[in-house]
Amino acid sequence: MNVASRPVTPGKTRTCPHCKATILESLSICPGCLHHLRFDQEAAKRQVAATSALRVEGVIRHQPLEEPWEYFLTISVRNDKGEEVTRQVVSVGALQGTEKRTFTLSVDMMTPQAPSGPNVARASSAGGKPSAAAASATGAKR
Ligand SMILES: [Zn+2]
Repeated sequence: MNVASRPVTPGKTRTCPHCKATILESLSICPGCLHHLRFDQEAAKRQVAATSALRVEGVIRHQPLEEPWEYFLTISVRNDKGEEVTRQVVSVGALQGTEKRTFTLSVDMMTPQAPSGPNVARASSAGGKPSAAAASATGAKR
């Protein structure tokens, strides 16, 4: 009856059959090419309702009298130990004359399945260890 109760491993990935990007298995719409990957209305609603946790946008304008500029757009993700888990060159290009480019970085968050199960509250009640927070300050100046 309840299709949404199918267990989902948070962070599990798959390959988009359209653009070959690595995406979350829980997504029903590819965030890269925007193709619908399956007809799961509940999953689509969760994805649409995803919380924007971070969004940075900026415009770079070429100065008309300067030489052409080349640019490369790189995104990296580091874990809580500061280790780089992903580093990717997303785009490269050039600007000249009065051209401009707008760059947008966004991070969206959502629960991989319907927030009806008893395991949803787990994430918010896990912060009982002060030693974990203290460890991140190791090596910092006083
Ligand atoms: Zn895609």
